[in-house]
This record gives sequence, structure tokens and C-alpha cells, in this order.
Amino acid sequence: MISVNEALEKLFALAKVTQVENVELKKCLGRVLAVPLEANRNNPPFPSSAMDGYAINKQNLKTGTEFKVVGESSAGHSYPSKINNNQAVRIFTGSRIPDGANFVIIQEDVETFGDLIKLKEGFDRKSNIRLEGSDFSIGHKVNAPLVLGPKDISLLAAMNFPCLDVQEKPTVAIISTGDELVLPGESPNSDQIIASNAYGIASLCEECGAQARILPIAQDSLESIEYVIGLAQDSDLIITIGGASVGKYDLVNQAIDNCGFDKSFHKIAMRPGKPLMAGKIKDTLIVGLPGNPVSALVCGYVFIKPLIQAMLGLERKRTQQLMGLCATSVPKNGPREHYMRAVLLPNGSLEPIESQDSARLALLSNSNALLIRPPYAKADPPNTPCKYIKI
Ligand code: AMP
Ligand code: MG
Repeated sequence: MISVNEALEKLFALAKVTQVENVELKKCLGRVLAVPLEANRNNPPFPSSAMDGYAINKQNLKTGTEFKVVGESSAGHSYPSKINNNQAVRIFTGSRIPDGANFVIIQEDVETFGDLIKLKEGFDRKSNIRLEGSDFSIGHKVNAPLVLGPKDISLLAAMNFPCLDVQEKPTVAIISTGDELVLPGESPNSDQIIASNAYGIASLCEECGAQARILPIAQDSLESIEYVIGLAQDSDLIITIGGASVGKYDLVNQAIDNCGFDKSFHKIAMRPGKPLMAGKIKDTLIVGLPGNPVSALVCGYVFIKPLIQAMLGLERKRTQQLMGLCATSVPKNGPREHYMRAVLLPNGSLEPIESQDSARLALLSNSNALLIRPPYAKADPPNTPCKYIKI
């Protein structure tokens, strides 16, 4: 058995970063920007008004001064000439400041008489001008890798990039194994259960930026498992679920060996998730998850998430661990790192849920954190600091 950290290092060593593809901006949400970009324009591209009002020259900036309104500058339609110190141009937010003006008096701060305006007492002295390039200017950098969110996409759109170079999504093929399994929506007989794990793991992969496909369920026979693995070999990553322990019907090891498995590791000092294994079949990475639904998902958060992030060219690191207080006492821990399902309370402390049975999905779905007990941790009283990950 190796530690969680060692297993992650081995997974990172296997992870190959995907190719780069050029994708239209509208489809870039959640994608990973692959190359740094630099602005090749200024924003705003000209000095513009931050308010609705009148553009004037601040030479005569005194209560009671009158200006003659000689024209208008609206968004997309600039005032074409230069104004002198006694003139004003009606102006609107985002419109170009006319030549000769260097101040925008807001419309609330003037009285109007026909085509004259007069500055009211106590007017706002802020210039209300956005200088050219005051948002960003030529050369402004956007670093990569970067997981693109709405604000990044907005900025890159403002820089006039219609398409972006992003990492291809790693393709993940998910294989459930077991004679007892049927797909959701089928009619299970009295001996059968639903292959729920494939769906949870597929969504986790997609949430991390991969493209997941769920393959037909493999039966508990070498031929069936080998056949389905054969269907998956064009993927970047194959994830098998179940059949990874030492029972009579746990045939995944044998089947992947028959497919030319180059093993990296098998068995981790962690709970739940001990039978995890990983390696390669030719160029395809393969990870075998345990079958118990909670174990499979915990391994998903601890191993599959950082693995997919590594394949996307993101920093190779553990899923983020936060510090909290464990609300209850906890018993001493054995040699395996324990990921206890817990509820993160509004006061920031964590309450382990009533049962840590790795088959109880409903309890997992009520939890929102995995509290991490290091190997050989001593028994702890309530309110002891602890590490956890959010799920
Ligand atoms: P195994 O490792 O194949 O012995 O599976 C351990 C437990 O997980 C058994 O109770 C299986 O029925 C269950 N299991 C295995 N694969 C899945 C799956 N894809 N979805 C839900 N439960 C599963
Ligand atoms: Mg099984």
C-alpha cells in the first residue's frame, strides 16, 4: 500500500497534457486557456465620459459660469470638432470626450436655459473622464493556464479575441463492471441494482473539464471486461468501477493485465478507497476505482479531479484542503488516511455524519465535506482543528 500523496505523484507522472485547440469565445466557459495573451488595443480606445452630462473645459470651472451647448457626443457618434472654453457638448456615458474638453459636468449639476447651461452651486468636482487605456492598454497580459470564467471571457472579448487557444478536453471512458448492474431507467430484476457510480464519476469528470462517455456495463467475466476496455482505447483516460478487490468475481486486474496493463500502483493507504489502481494500457491512462459508491466518489475527488486538472495543463496539486474544527470527538485512526463524510456547519465547524459506511449514497449526498484524518491520528476531543476538502 502506498500513501495518497505517493499515489498522486505517480498519477501526475502518467498524466499527459492534452493538445491545444482553437475554440470560439462563446464556447470557452470552463475551458483552460493554453497560451498567455496580450492586449493589442487600449480600452477604452479613446477618452470617454463616465456619466451623462456636458463636456466642458475646466478653465472656467466656477459656480454660475455659463456655457453654450454646441452639439452632442453620444455612444458611437462623436462630436466632430474642437470646443472652446465657453462651449459645452451634451455627452453620454461611454461617448468620446470632444477635443478641447477635459471635464464632464453631470447633468444634475447644471441649470439649462435653451442652449445655455449654468453650473449650479456645490457641483461635483470629479472630472468623470475615463482616460484612454485606463481599463487596460496595449501589452496588458492574461496569463495561462487559466480556467476561463465569465469575467475572463468578458476581458478577452474586450481585447477583441474572437477565438481562444484552449487545452482539448481529456476524453474519459467510464466502465462499470458487475453482473448485478443495470443502467438508470432499465427495469432491474430482484438481484440487480443501478450502476449509479458511472453517472457520478462522469459528472465529476465533466465538472473538472473533461469529456466523459459512459460505456456499456461489463459483466463479471474476463471476456466482457476485456471487450469493453477494447472499446475505450481511443480515450485519454479509462476509469473502471468495481471488481478491483480480491473477491472471486473481482476480475478487473486480470482483465486489464490481459490487455497489456503497465501497472503503476495498486492499493492505497486510504479509507474508503483502498483497492484503487492505476497504470497505462499502451498510451491510455487507466484508473480502477473501487465499486462501493461512496468509495468511488471519494477517490474521484481525491485522485480523478487533480489528475484531470493535470491533463488540462493546470498546476499538479492535491484537491484544495481547508482548515476547520471538528465539532465532535473522533476516535484514533489506523494506518490509512481516512476521508470522513461530514457536514460543514454555518459556523465553519465540521460534523462527521452518523455512518461512514461506504455504500450509503444518501448520506454522502447530505454531506458537503470530507474531513481528513491522517494515518495514526490520535483520538481527538471536540473542536480540534482538522483539514477537509469541499465536495
Ligand atoms: P465490487 O468492487 O465490484 O465488489 O463492488 C463493490 C460494491 O459496489 C458492490 O456492492 C457493487 O454492487 C457496488 N457497485 C459496483 N459498481 C457499481 C456501480 N457502477 N454503481 C453502483 N454500485 C456499484
Ligand atoms: Mg463487482
